[in-house]
Amino acid sequence: MSLEQFKNRNVGTQNYTTLDLGKSPETGMEKFTQVIKRSLKGELFVGLGVVMRTMLQALFKGDMHTVKYPFEKMPISPRYRAIHDMLRLMESGNYRCIGCGLCEKICISNCITMDTRYDENQRKEVSEYTINFGRCIFCGYCAEVCPELAIVHGPRYENASEQRAGFSLFEDMLTPIDQLNLQQEYDGFGAISPNADENIKKTPLAY
Ligand code: SF4
Ligand code: SF4
Repeated sequence: MSLEQFKNRNVGTQNYTTLDLGKSPETGMEKFTQVIKRSLKGELFVGLGVVMRTMLQALFKGDMHTVKYPFEKMPISPRYRAIHDMLRLMESGNYRCIGCGLCEKICISNCITMDTRYDENQRKEVSEYTINFGRCIFCGYCAEVCPELAIVHGPRYENASEQRAGFSLFEDMLTPIDQLNLQQEYDGFGAISPNADENIKKTPLAY
């Protein structure tokens, strides 16, 4: 196409096809007739048939396509980044968290606040640990970086709350000691890959 044809703005010379839309209804009766004609077409009964078939399958065959939330919940992917959990050591019940502070450092929303102290055995322990879930963007970096698999993204995805601080304390996220035997090893974001041993490379000695 030449430049001259592009510059031609005279659209009146082109061939347009005029659609025959018929006469617009004017009286109330004409409008009513048009609505009935447009509504009662075959597609309506096809749709009703599909609804009836699905409803009867759900009623008599138990073939449900919905879940009764919140009484029923869909399983979520292990890689889903939900509300954090703090895990314990299965053997002793102690916190896995060693207070290294890596999660606090890497958090890009700056929403982890923690403090540590020395216990009576001069062992470092976490004295304060909070996550502000009003700021957290659930990026998963904290779970990824934790060397002890202490902080993980658990299965709780209902994070609506009347107060932002509702879920933020260490104790809220920690596995209750009386439910230690129910604690699941985490296979989601930041977990050790099944072939982690093979991936470890020998460190060349510098001397
Ligand atoms: S990275 Fe893990 S071990 Fe280190 S302070 Fe955070 S939760 Fe604790
Ligand atoms: S998921 Fe991301 S934003 Fe939330 S606490 Fe962990 S590092 Fe911070």
